[in-house]
Amino acid sequence: MDTGRKREIEAKVEAGERLGYHDGVALYECDDLAWLGGLAHAVRTRKNGDRVFFNVNRHLNLTNVCAASCAYCSFQRKPGEKAAYTMRVEEAVRLAREMEPEGITELHIVNGLHPTLPWRYYPRVLRALKQALPGVSLKCFTATEIHWFEKISGLPAGDVLDELMDAGLESLTGGGAEIFDWEVRSQIVDHDTHWEDWSRIHRVAHGKGLRTPSTMLYGHIEEPRHRVDHVLRLRELQDETGGFAVFIPLRYQHDFVDSADGVVRNRLQARTTMATPAEALKTFAVSRLLLDNVEHVKCFWVMHGLSTAQLALSFGADDLDGSVVEYKITHDADGYGTPHTMHRADLLDLIRDAGFRPVERNTRYGVIREYDGPDPARRDVPHPVWA
Ligand code: SF4
Repeated sequence: MDTGRKREIEAKVEAGERLGYHDGVALYECDDLAWLGGLAHAVRTRKNGDRVFFNVNRHLNLTNVCAASCAYCSFQRKPGEKAAYTMRVEEAVRLAREMEPEGITELHIVNGLHPTLPWRYYPRVLRALKQALPGVSLKCFTATEIHWFEKISGLPAGDVLDELMDAGLESLTGGGAEIFDWEVRSQIVDHDTHWEDWSRIHRVAHGKGLRTPSTMLYGHIEEPRHRVDHVLRLRELQDETGGFAVFIPLRYQHDFVDSADGVVRNRLQARTTMATPAEALKTFAVSRLLLDNVEHVKCFWVMHGLSTAQLALSFGADDLDGSVVEYKITHDADGYGTPHTMHRADLLDLIRDAGFRPVERNTRYGVIREYDGPDPARRDVPHPVWA
């Protein structure tokens, strides 16, 4: 990108003027990562100062049995396959309770599209979890699952959500978005929930007062223009509803180790590489710059590794998820040694060591506790990325 174009984009960002599709594509073509990061960091600082939000949560997958076979997914199993499982309600409650001593504030629940499990199972699990852990927010189900529930219950999304909210649902999850562009989507997604239904369901949820996350699975077969298109669709929907609390770029993963039964389920693996850390940082920065109407950009450290997650905080991200415990959807195996679990103290260290001030939040981004930032008296105080 030449200097003139850089100055043009800088001027727009400084004036708070909205960037367009061609700006987004140009930013992805730019090889000046430091410039890009500095620009995104300025926006992130304007919105969230030196704060980094985090929450203490547990991911829970009630079943890995799925009627679909998305090309990138190493999680799904067919009925009767080795390692296929479906939790009884009591099992879900037991696992959730294990995290009680950690002071979790959220359960994050996503599942396969189970072909025979009755619709009634889902509100029943939520009720039991809410009864067992009344202080814990239930962030559950992708728009794809809600669409599935419409089919298996015969109810429209509004009624499905009413029933789930009555059982304790406080937020949907942001998954199932992947890449909205059909050229890409038709090659990677194997269910019926595409932009029209994904956006419809989030619109309905926002109309009921739920705030939801939005996501993008990047770094597989898509091109930068598809990422820009994806983010601008979300921006347009956000203009309409204001219901997205956060945007989360999710880095597509390879299975580095065969699954328990020796099968590599990721069918994209042979023709893809994973996004490099530099590409990840670029994606955070461009997303932050384009999404002027979404308050937070989250780095899901499980998919990026801890070092890239720390750097992402200086490239537009202001939120880290979370304490996690077992993330399976694309992370059944990981060659980087990324841990499955981070405790509250680990997250505080991670954020402070990156030079930021940790803030524990709840599911709706309400502040639970503000912590001190890095101790300036420390001899090994971290150097800021941007002086
Ligand atoms: S990504 Fe979700 S819907 Fe697709 S195969 Fe995996 S579990 Fe099923």
